[in-house]
Amino acid sequence: MTTATDIVRVPLRIAGDAADPASGRYFDKIRRLTGAKVATVAAAGRADAERAVDAAAAAAPVWAATPPAQRRKILEAAAALLTERRHDIAAVMGKEMGAAAAWCHFNAMLAANMLREAAAQVYSTVGQVIPSDVPGLSATAVREPVGVVVGIAPWNAPLILGVRAVAMPLAFGNTVVLKASEETPATHSAIIECLIDAGLPVGVANLITNAPEDAAEVVDALVTHKAVRVINFTGSTKVGRIIAEKAGRNLKRSVMELGGKAPFIVLKDADLEAAAAAASFGAFMNQGQICMSTERIIVDKAVAAEFSQLLAERAAKLVVGDPSDPATQLGPLVHETSVEHVTALVRDAVEKGATVLTGGEADGLYFPATVLTGITKAARIYTEESFGPLAPIIEVDGADEAIEVANDSEYGLAAALFTSDVSRGLGLARRIQSGICHINGATVHDEAQMPFGGVKSSGFGRFGSAASLEEFTELRWITVST
Ligand code: NAD
Repeated sequence: MTTATDIVRVPLRIAGDAADPASGRYFDKIRRLTGAKVATVAAAGRADAERAVDAAAAAAPVWAATPPAQRRKILEAAAALLTERRHDIAAVMGKEMGAAAAWCHFNAMLAANMLREAAAQVYSTVGQVIPSDVPGLSATAVREPVGVVVGIAPWNAPLILGVRAVAMPLAFGNTVVLKASEETPATHSAIIECLIDAGLPVGVANLITNAPEDAAEVVDALVTHKAVRVINFTGSTKVGRIIAEKAGRNLKRSVMELGGKAPFIVLKDADLEAAAAAASFGAFMNQGQICMSTERIIVDKAVAAEFSQLLAERAAKLVVGDPSDPATQLGPLVHETSVEHVTALVRDAVEKGATVLTGGEADGLYFPATVLTGITKAARIYTEESFGPLAPIIEVDGADEAIEVANDSEYGLAAALFTSDVSRGLGLARRIQSGICHINGATVHDEAQMPFGGVKSSGFGRFGSAASLEEFTELRWITVST
């Protein structure tokens, strides 16, 4: 039974204070699995979004002038708070998006790591002294904060991606507005609470939550506000296009971390057991709802039958069940539309000649780990991001065809390649059009310091320590004539 104390209240956070939206409107966040109310959430509109940016703009000079050591201390304190509160926060995340407990706890751990890694970067804004041809001129290049950064985050890894939206910008002296996902407002709010409770000055980190029907209006207000300098978006390619276009028209810098269709190549000399384990992890972790999820398995026909069997055996053993049960490996999908999309992709593939080796049928919000063989170009699943627990297998004849199929996609985020000839693998990896490629590893892999990002319709810009420095600082040229 749900009690009133289980229901989280999520107000806006503007200039440090918990704030009601101007309209006074709140919406209910429902746990789809049970129909129970999880949170009552502030439904911001344009005026609230503008107020949040104004607060961030007012705090920008204060935070930019805060000594790096102090910024580091606060970010480390936020990491410690997130770690201390991880059980409660992971429980809320599990209810909001339906993820299995292991994914929620992994999110909390990596999110805390990202805060610590951001804390470690505060001294990296070093500049340069550049020789000038003008006698007596001393020329320097200095890195300064950009100002206000808007972070827009998705629901699928809400702690990791909510923290990623704000942590590095804060480390480099910027102020932020985090626009929460409508699916995970309480989880995103918990991040801002950790930062504020850790001692961020008033207005440095602000939170906007909105009802689903208001997303376009709220995002428009954030992106077009004159004080906003960078839009840091993680989400679908469809919405990324809208936001990037708006950012471009308003001459704002943007970082676009978008959808994926990660290829996973198995060459005939690969360790098939290891490849099957990595493919299973990459395709089914968090029910395939990860941007790096293995979305196309491209296998040399010489080993396709054996590999498909190994993968199907692993998939069939994965435990589908209640996300709060620690034994559960696959929880429910995030919403009904997602179940419909995944089901439609499987049916379409079967109509076009594919065979379901295991899985294939939804049970309410639950969808089992599904392995499909005989996928051809005609099937929708060959091109469309499924964002579900589907492992479609495409057979190819040799490495060149494997690379050709891997690149036959509008996306280019993560990729993986299995071979026992690592030096050949390195050459092949260079030919794959993706931002990330792992040789003899899963497509799903993230570390806070690595350059993370995609090419083609998977977006542009990079996360990770050194990469984020470029995205969230301005390099300025300053001279002194003597
Ligand atoms: P989404 O694009 O639907 O939503 C992301 C954000 O955009 C939300 O905050 C939402 O409120 C906002 N939004 C929705 N409609 C909008 C509109 N019309 N105008 C302006 N803003 C709008 O994405 P999602 O369903 O939350 O997340 C899943 C997608 O995100 C998948 O495609 C996945 O591949 C991608 N993703 C990418 C990465 C990455 O790092 N590349 C990481 C995780 C997820």
